[in-house]
Amino acid sequence: MRKPIIGGNWKMNLGVPSEAVGMLKSMRSMVKNIEDVDIFVAPPFTALESAISIVKKSNIKVAAQNMYFKENGAFTGEISPKFLKNMGIEYVILGHSERRNIFNETDEIVNQKIKIALSMDMFPIVCIGEHLQQREEGKTKEVIAYQMENTFKDIRKEDMIKIIIAYEPIWAIGTGVTATPEQAEEIHSYIRSLLVNRFDEGVANKVRIQYGGSIKPDNAEAIFSKPNIDGGLVGGASLEAKSFYEIIKSAEKIK
Ligand code: PEP
Repeated sequence: MRKPIIGGNWKMNLGVPSEAVGMLKSMRSMVKNIEDVDIFVAPPFTALESAISIVKKSNIKVAAQNMYFKENGAFTGEISPKFLKNMGIEYVILGHSERRNIFNETDEIVNQKIKIALSMDMFPIVCIGEHLQQREEGKTKEVIAYQMENTFKDIRKEDMIKIIIAYEPIWAIGTGVTATPEQAEEIHSYIRSLLVNRFDEGVANKVRIQYGGSIKPDNAEAIFSKPNIDGGLVGGASLEAKSFYEIIKSAEKIK
């Protein structure tokens, strides 16, 4: 039995510490009795410290949205995993499609980031997903298999179970178009079969796979009710405490 995990990816929003604090104070009291769902929020770097102090002693964890794959050095504008770890960050989103598409992150770069995150005992949330054209050309599974092979290259079995995969079809992110629960389940179950082939049933059964792409309070329950979907990574609907809370409640209700 996998514990569902719901994450809020704030992207480049609520980065002024007072905005993040306001949002998290509301959320903190709303979710205080939720035990059966893991919850995290990923604010911009500028609000991480305030976010951490507000959710301390609550059941909300704080994730970073990205990081670099070196500890120190001449990498102007980048954030080291060591800095994040030192702040108390436990989760980090890696390879989000906006990072891949806008900032040219490749599977190889994401793979290096995963390895350094694991070496510092942080849990990577690794995003994979196909473009609309690839789906329309019937290449979704091929794309997913390629990303799985390269993104998780040389990852050991004991590390794979610490990783959370987020299947995020790119055509569904921020577009208001959601994959149907059946479309999402088909790919989640495919991802699990790839984990069986590469590792074994034990690993495949343990790895949590979130769905991401225009999750809203009114579609969350149908998506989370699918057997291979272990919660969601939520963008737009995580910016407002009430809608994010309703999505978390849907995950709680199902499992
Ligand atoms: C995301 O940013 O990971 C995401 C899924 O965004 P949205 O929910 O807005 O589609």
